[in-house]
Amino acid sequence: MIPFNKPYLTGKETQYIEDAVKSGKISGNGMFTQKCQQFFEQKYGFKKCLLTTSCTDALEMCAILADIQPDDEVIVPSYTFVSSALAFVRQGAKIVFADSYENNPNIDADKIEALITPKTKAIVVVHYAGMACDMEKIMALAAKYNLLVIEDAAQAIESYYQSPLTPPKGEKNFSPSGRSGGALGGIGHLAAFSFHETKNIISGEGGMLAINDDRFIHRAEIIWEKGTNRAEFFRGEVNKYGWVDTGSSFLPSEIIAAFLWAQIEHLDDIQNKRKQTWNTYYEGLKPLADQGFFRLPEIPDYATNNAHMFYLVCNSLEDRTKLIEHLKQKEINAVFHYLSLHSSEFYKNRHDGRILKNCDKFADCLVRLPMFYELSLNDAKYIINSIKEFYQ
Ligand SMILES: *Cc1c(COP(=O)(O)O)cnc(C)c1O
Repeated sequence: MIPFNKPYLTGKETQYIEDAVKSGKISGNGMFTQKCQQFFEQKYGFKKCLLTTSCTDALEMCAILADIQPDDEVIVPSYTFVSSALAFVRQGAKIVFADSYENNPNIDADKIEALITPKTKAIVVVHYAGMACDMEKIMALAAKYNLLVIEDAAQAIESYYQSPLTPPKGEKNFSPSGRSGGALGGIGHLAAFSFHETKNIISGEGGMLAINDDRFIHRAEIIWEKGTNRAEFFRGEVNKYGWVDTGSSFLPSEIIAAFLWAQIEHLDDIQNKRKQTWNTYYEGLKPLADQGFFRLPEIPDYATNNAHMFYLVCNSLEDRTKLIEHLKQKEINAVFHYLSLHSSEFYKNRHDGRILKNCDKFADCLVRLPMFYELSLNDAKYIINSIKEFYQ
């Protein structure tokens, strides 16, 4: 069976874990944690990075930093993973679910303004498949209504928003980071990444908070360290540390960071290999898409492709079910993705009843093909041929 995902090991993971163990410092915020954080800050221009135990935890930190209170409203796409909404629900927020574009699972930036009320505090954007949302439009809306933008960049490592960039009229900056585009996760006020074993670079479970707005840096460090000012104490900025705010134990151990460092060292290689696979799929399947059998991902001209995922959009749920079954017969594990959060068992009774038809269509019709470092070109071609066979 060709699996849907297979975690890739670069070869140095266990050595770096051993180094961490031998260093005698295996709790959080040690040498490997700092190396990882500095790498992301320097490469992507994030103002401050903090490794976390998951992207879900990084999103919880965002919800605390955004000071979400009961009855505040947060706009979240419905076509996303549970965590994009859950972190805000835990703070008592009401989630106002937004629809996707017709031809792209990302949040439809032209439909957000109608959802904004005096209670709206934040907009969560999810860069689905690592492809950028329309950040220029979304940041302009946020500036107009004084809202925070939180990027769920779980899938978006090494992907970019490119913009010709004229700052919106009257606005000094397009982004609180003072940049007008650039790496995803560096445009909104806050962003969350995932290093779960299904993502491009991994640490088993793992994540990161990126902070682009200076206002949040000091408090984020405190929330990260169980509500204490321990980080300041270790830098010698205060002479004792104590309980100063809310928080949790959001920081991962050095063992996780050591694993992640081995992955970071191979980031370019991993990305090149994944892009090769992605392009093989795209070229191989384009003739069938041109005949109308299904649709392929459409990359907006402002977005880049980090080859996190390769998906098709079938013409119906029935087609998709049969295609997945056909591929299973061929020993290929292709899988569907999110179920709409607005009609989930947990949230449907709290949803305001709006129909989100594009989101529901992706829930019914999108199918993801195997995508991982060690997938061979031959396997990719076999998968393409198996799909051709199904449609012919
Ligand atoms: C993977 C993923 C998450 C969750 O990441 P964890 O690190 O497992 O918490 C959240 N949002 C999106 C869009 C994801 O793809």
